Amino acid sequence: MNDTSTIAARIARLRQRIDALTLAAGRPAGSVGLLPVSKTFGVDAILEAAAAGMTRFGENKAQEIRDKAGALAGTGVQWVMIGHLQTNKAKDVARHADEIQSLDRPELALALERRLQAEGRSLTALVQVKTADEPGKFGLDPAELHDFLLFLARETPRLRVRGLMTLAANDPDRQAVRACFRRLRELRDSLRERHIGGIELERLSMGMSGDYDLAIEEGSTEVRIGSAIFGDRSYTPT
Ligand SMILES: *Cc1c(COP(=O)(O)O)cnc(C)c1O
Repeated sequence: MNDTSTIAARIARLRQRIDALTLAAGRPAGSVGLLPVSKTFGVDAILEAAAAGMTRFGENKAQEIRDKAGALAGTGVQWVMIGHLQTNKAKDVARHADEIQSLDRPELALALERRLQAEGRSLTALVQVKTADEPGKFGLDPAELHDFLLFLARETPRLRVRGLMTLAANDPDRQAVRACFRRLRELRDSLRERHIGGIELERLSMGMSGDYDLAIEEGSTEVRIGSAIFGDRSYTPT
């Protein structure tokens, strides 16, 4: 097995590529973070990535966060929820995650707030916005973002809102993908100036294994990478 096939080597190569793309886009060095997405992969793979310096891991199921948090307790690994969350599973995320990037509706925010209060915890949060006109995609309608931020500022003090997240269109046309990323950045820029409820929208989570180059060009501050680090998943993500 050659070196480039290890998780550590893939992370190193990816980090170099991200840094090169960041500079090529005229952006400051180090301004794009890497969130490894470990969904469907086991604790051994996560420990390998942790040994390579990764501390936060993205997961898209509350149950999987709960199980892995149990298995990796005491290792310092932190969990970031990036998938659709049902309100009746808010408890697992409130208890085990450090961040949620898929906050997309008031009922979920209130369910999390209530659970966080019970746990005596708080969560960093990004609002997931729907930038692609595809049925079945989750995320808040951009037209509702202003009011939702106002709602969060007033009603959910245990959610520290720091920015926005999106999934681009699942489209072979790279221009359509780029348009989604651009849309999120423009939305952020227009809202940021207004400091709604004192919320700072400094973060933009966008870009995955197949499109992170475009996302970085369009202003992403962190890319969420699964298969380019851990390999192909054996079942389809939801
Ligand atoms: C699975 C997933 C990713 C990573 O996808 P890859 O194509 O494997 O890099 C990123 N974001 C979300 C929300 C995901 O569910």
